[in-house]
Amino acid sequence: MKIPHFAIVGAGTAGLATAILLAREGNHVTIFEHVDELSPVGAGLLLQPAGLAVFEHLGVLEHALKLGAKVTGLEGQLPNKRLLVNSHYHQAGSNLYGLGIHRASLCHVLTHKLAEYASQVTWRMGHSVEHIQEQQNEVRLFGIQQQQTFDDGFDAVLIANGARSQLRPSAWVKVDQAYPWGAAWSIVPECRTLDPAILHQFYDRSKIMMGVLPTGAIPTAPQQRLSSVFWSLPSKQLHTFLEDESAKQQWLKQVSDRWPDVAEWLKQLLSNQQHQPQWLSAQYRDVVMSQFGQGRIGVIGDAAHAMSPQLGQGANMALLDAWAFSQSVQTAKKHQQIDWSMLWQHYHQQRRSSTQFYQFLSRLLTPLYQSDHWWAGAIRDLTFPWMYQIPYFRKEMAITISGLKTGLFQQLDYQQVAQYTESDNSFSVKLESLPEYK
Ligand SMILES: Cc1cc2nc3c(=O)[nH]c(=O)nc-3n(C[C@H](O)[C@H](O)[C@H](O)COP(=O)(O)OP(=O)(O)OC[C@H]3O[C@@H](n4cnc5c(N)ncnc54)[C@H](O)[C@@H]3O)c2cc1C
Repeated sequence: MKIPHFAIVGAGTAGLATAILLAREGNHVTIFEHVDELSPVGAGLLLQPAGLAVFEHLGVLEHALKLGAKVTGLEGQLPNKRLLVNSHYHQAGSNLYGLGIHRASLCHVLTHKLAEYASQVTWRMGHSVEHIQEQQNEVRLFGIQQQQTFDDGFDAVLIANGARSQLRPSAWVKVDQAYPWGAAWSIVPECRTLDPAILHQFYDRSKIMMGVLPTGAIPTAPQQRLSSVFWSLPSKQLHTFLEDESAKQQWLKQVSDRWPDVAEWLKQLLSNQQHQPQWLSAQYRDVVMSQFGQGRIGVIGDAAHAMSPQLGQGANMALLDAWAFSQSVQTAKKHQQIDWSMLWQHYHQQRRSSTQFYQFLSRLLTPLYQSDHWWAGAIRDLTFPWMYQIPYFRKEMAITISGLKTGLFQQLDYQQVAQYTESDNSFSVKLESLPEYK
């Protein structure tokens, strides 16, 4: 009986979570990652309840809670101090919460778990996959490692190499374009001016938007709590953000005219000559695919459905992809043979409508927060307060932010995702990993 061997391209959230689940179910996994060492760079991110359900399923929730910061809701303020967005996870379910987490901690928690299945996992760091070819009974990967070419064959491959993937089959790609707006961001010591259990946002029309996200700590400095600060800008202006002293003063004035308390905190941060915040920029892509897999090739995470981070769903969707893929493998596996068409049928049932829902909403809402349209912010400021008056919409918004929606009127059950019972497969893993007796 041959144990299926999966290749995963990309050791981001999607790739690592999928590797854990496949290895736990007794499969062999080889991870190809083009950087030599995993040291993820990026602003902190907010894991929503849907992502945390997958964390529970993976068995990493407790570890993540030690490093991350529990978040109870999202509050978005206008310059007149009115709350335009006022969503709290308990409105979606009494025990739900989010988790602000540093990318280094997210990566640490997942790789730590993956180490438990070391006998089934092969790492290929510093390997950049350039091309994938499906053959009759295998998929071949071609790439470059230290200026040398390599190629290798597997039972199946999952493309999890992020928003800028060049590997996704072009026939499945409906949209692949950059957003005109992005954000400058920095990770700074925890903001004590604002409630540290809330994601705070500040908006003025659709041209000004700032976020302050509780980000927890990194594994090497667990006592130092952190926040991530985001400042939204058209992509063309990102490289000149705070480039000189006058730009800093101008920026502080923009904030202090609207939200003086927050401006005071930012001023203190910027005046610390020894620890100046490092500002980096993030640009987003919009990727829409007609399908996520066929035969022995699949696409997951941002590679499959990159979108603006306005709804804070990207990493959650990557985690849900991992969960759905492992469920689909189990459904399609009979006597260690995988029925690939059954696998993708099951996967699309699990992921298609949810992904479509969030991508549609993201495309609808992003211009209301980040665009040059004079009417966009005005429409938002008129409609949102009205929606929050109606309990049905208030709850629906909280469920949407929680990442649990699978369509306009359907939602995922947290417990259904979170639960994990060891299947017969995982028992056979333990037997397989024992030395063979001849
Ligand atoms: C500013 C910002 C804020 C965000 N905030 C949130 C948030 O609050 N909540 C949330 O859920 N999401 C958020 N996101 C989105 C989230 O970061 C992504 O959706 C998530 O990280 C996607 O994970 P991934 O594994 O699909 O891809 P990635 O994390 O991009 O991983 C891809 C991996 O593939 C590797 N790779 C690339 N090409 C190759 C190759 N050819 N061969 C081998 N390896 C390769 C890369 O080195 C990388 O390690 C945010 C994004 C941004 C930009």
